[in-house]
Amino acid sequence: MLLGAIADDFTGATDLCSMLVRGGMRTVQLIGVPGPDDVPPDADAVVVALKSRTAPVGQAVSGSLAALEWLRKAGARQFFFKYCSTFDSTDEGNIGPIADALIAALGCGFALACPAFPTNARTVYQGHLFVGGTLLNESGMEHHPLTPMKDANLVRVLSRQTDGTVGLVPFSTVEQGAVAIRRTLTGLKEQGRRYAIVDAVSDSHLMAIGEAAEHHALITGGSGVAMGLPANFRRAGLLNETADPSVLPAIGGYAAVVAGSCSRATLMQLGYARDHAPVFEIDLMANPDPAALAASALTWVEGKLGDTPVVIAASAPPEKVAAVQARFGRDAAGALIEEAVARIAAGLVDRGVRRMVVAGGETSGAAVARLGVRSLRIGPEIDPGVPWTHAEGSGPAVRLALKSGNFGATDFFLKAFQTMGH
Ligand code: ADP
Repeated sequence: MLLGAIADDFTGATDLCSMLVRGGMRTVQLIGVPGPDDVPPDADAVVVALKSRTAPVGQAVSGSLAALEWLRKAGARQFFFKYCSTFDSTDEGNIGPIADALIAALGCGFALACPAFPTNARTVYQGHLFVGGTLLNESGMEHHPLTPMKDANLVRVLSRQTDGTVGLVPFSTVEQGAVAIRRTLTGLKEQGRRYAIVDAVSDSHLMAIGEAAEHHALITGGSGVAMGLPANFRRAGLLNETADPSVLPAIGGYAAVVAGSCSRATLMQLGYARDHAPVFEIDLMANPDPAALAASALTWVEGKLGDTPVVIAASAPPEKVAAVQARFGRDAAGALIEEAVARIAAGLVDRGVRRMVVAGGETSGAAVARLGVRSLRIGPEIDPGVPWTHAEGSGPAVRLALKSGNFGATDFFLKAFQTMGH
């Protein structure tokens, strides 16, 4: 294991994994901290996905330290703390406290911090984070329900979350390339800074930052700054170049889609799927019992399983969702539907489904938990941000694609199975 990463949420972990696979590293995502007896996967990079972004700070820190300890024992040479490219956090944390604890545990005294991801329009200039053409605090993120970002100056934001001091590697230095960046990082560390926010507005900046951080024990940032890391391992002759990192073990079995996302892209994808595959809709209004909803869907499935996916969806347009929420309450409706979809996913696997798309971030979390999945080997991307994965855990191995709501082209639900039939 070359790189051991700790991600503060599930989809962020997958995002980082895809970046590393693109860079040529065989990558596995683990769900939660593995047990002491769990054998490390055969991979160049392992990303432990936690739910620490908005967890109570003590819990977020202890989970991150446990993940670090496991990754260290598993032999990782370098560590990465992955957070959101919009630096989602509050003055209490959790980015600063987690990074402080990781730095202390590693004894490295210093880490760079760079959430920039220019491909997704997240750039950092003079320490200020931009989303597209606007400052972070004017991007809508200032209204986020859990982590409202009211200050775009990341030197200030991170300073409020740590008892260490925070410096800056400005654009003018980053433009000069890896040597200049490395010199400035070293200088900041020698001045006693614990962190350096690093500017980046292009992929070439990210590559240079990665090169400059080749010998850093810990790097913190969004998935963007991981772009430059595979090249370091490659230069050092540590990457196995013969194997395609995105090849997954072959798998047979039936195909299915389960959807609990009501995002616009998912609704369009369902519209397309209706013309090409059998679709069944579950309706909480008609039957507010998850077990009964799951049973009706699984009865419908009989005789329909094959290479063309069966599609089972709870998804509904905004006016229908509003009616359901008015009747059951928003959280209760979500929980009931997640329970139904998770049961359906498990029932489909019991019936021989081994290739499955799950649509919806929360929905994916519920399905993965119900299926007992512990690890996901990251394969080729179907559409940007949505790879096929090889899922293993307490049940049979399953090929899973976990699609967050707004990702994927209109034909995603069919295309997914054509790009990787088996
Ligand atoms: P996305 O990635 O699109 O945000 P999520 O799965 O994260 O999707 O969130 C969608 C939420 O909406 C889930 O909690 C799901 O259970 C809930 N949901 C799905 N269908 C309906 C519906 N018809 N009415 C109300 N809530 C629904």
